[in-house]
Amino acid sequence: MATGDDNALPEITESYDVIVVGAGAAGVGVAIAIQHTGIKNFLLVDRESVGASFASWPDETRFITPSFPSNSIGMLDLNSIAIGVSPAFSMRIEHPTGKEFATHLQSLADYFELPVKDKTDIIAIEKHEEVFHLKTNSETLIAKNIVWAAGEYQYPTQGGFIGSELCIHTSSVERYGEMDGDDFLIIGGYESGIDAAYHLARNGNNVQVLDANCPWSEESSDPSIALSTFSFERMLDDKFKSNVELYAETRVKSVTLEGNTYHVTTEDDTIFETKTQPLLATGFDGSHKFVSHLFEERPDGFPSLTEQDESTIVPGMFLCGPSVRHDGHIFCFIFKFRQRFAIVAQAIASSFKLPTEEFIEAYKGWGMYLDDLSCCGQECLSC
Ligand SMILES: Cc1cc2nc3c(=O)[nH]c(=O)nc-3n(C[C@H](O)[C@H](O)[C@H](O)COP(=O)(O)OP(=O)(O)OC[C@H]3O[C@@H](n4cnc5c(N)ncnc54)[C@H](O)[C@@H]3O)c2cc1C
Repeated sequence: MATGDDNALPEITESYDVIVVGAGAAGVGVAIAIQHTGIKNFLLVDRESVGASFASWPDETRFITPSFPSNSIGMLDLNSIAIGVSPAFSMRIEHPTGKEFATHLQSLADYFELPVKDKTDIIAIEKHEEVFHLKTNSETLIAKNIVWAAGEYQYPTQGGFIGSELCIHTSSVERYGEMDGDDFLIIGGYESGIDAAYHLARNGNNVQVLDANCPWSEESSDPSIALSTFSFERMLDDKFKSNVELYAETRVKSVTLEGNTYHVTTEDDTIFETKTQPLLATGFDGSHKFVSHLFEERPDGFPSLTEQDESTIVPGMFLCGPSVRHDGHIFCFIFKFRQRFAIVAQAIASSFKLPTEEFIEAYKGWGMYLDDLSCCGQECLSC
């Protein structure tokens, strides 16, 4: 991120109590919680539009977590981002596609009349005299607090090996059904890799999946670590079983293009050949790297946060979404990170001396307020 100098600041246009950056699942969800506390002078900005990351998923990719209309007994739909809301009920779909979920997020932004400012790419953030300056190419927005909710999807990992630029990341695929070729090689065998393999195999292609570890036999019950039930079920599909070869403990060292053949070389010098561009399913760096100057870094590279998900070094700078980490707890699914929206909203509302007791009661009642992390862990058959 550019540090810039004051002479270069674009015109200051507007000033807010809170600006939420990113109108994805986290940004829309935390904006609704902020609105529920009674804060009025806030803004939700997005470089594209509400739900832009979901809208750019490959057409065939679906949610792995199921939606079910369980709200009537106080169990919030797993894919809901707001109290009382159920994507299952409103969409009648159990595993929505990214595009369907983007439409759902837009309908929530409309329903709650959130103050959304789209086509607003934040290219730099600085703090001057207790307020944040958020720069775009054309203006500078001012805020007392920022909630960074810019997600991970638009910040993919390129793989970290020689020749990775010859590959195509799964986040750049528009539709697996339209990919040319009949033999595919996927680097990375966690959710995105298995998703890609499933669709390509169903279309009659042969697929090889290489992973440095062995995600499909991971013993953990935490879906942030092990494959989801949805993916395990897909792996039982006849076409998956006949067309997909899984290679565990197979770390890629380099990719080269010789003539019209890609050579994928692993650390033990095995060479896999493919005529089609290898697919990278190597995950995401995450947008928190973009604001790393505003957070202390944990040893694992994720931002260090207070118990309110605020920066430990820059007061007023909050983080929401899948990059939130506390000790060993990973908040990378909606049903996990949504439980921190109210914590952030409460912290900001309290700084403006707004009462939050009723708000907290409501969020606790819906299982949307997780402040005691000692209860979190893995499912355990013997407990
Ligand atoms: C293939 C796949 C399947 C998944 N399946 C599930 C699932 O079944 N269940 C589940 O819970 N999770 C699932 N996830 C994870 C889930 O999609 C993410 O955790 C979720 O999208 C995170 O939401 P977010 O709001 O943090 O980020 P995003 O949805 O990426 O939203 C971030 C927003 O910020 C905007 N933005 C980014 N940078 C800037 C900037 N500098 N200035 C302004 N705006 C900016 C973007 O345009 C975007 O709209 C899946 C992820 C993938 C990749």
